[in-house]
Amino acid sequence: MGGYMLAFGHCISCGAFFSFNPERVPSIRANDAGQPDPAGRREPVCRDCWNRRQAYRRQQGLPEETLLPGAYEPEPEQSEANE
Ligand SMILES: [Zn+2]
Repeated sequence: MGGYMLAFGHCISCGAFFSFNPERVPSIRANDAGQPDPAGRREPVCRDCWNRRQAYRRQQGLPEETLLPGAYEPEPEQSEANE
């Protein structure tokens, strides 16, 4: 089979509708009211909000977080070598 998985959803932070790779997209935990909650479920964060968050972290002198490749796009059709 192979291929990729692409999901669509609303950004938990700004509400934008966007597509993402559910296994790679950055997310934050939020409760049913949309408030950040460590015990909530994982909700996706769109690229704009991600970029804003990294800009904020730079301002605060915090290390930037790593964005996984393909977080916002389908993975290329290629098989990865497994060991
Ligand atoms: Zn957003």
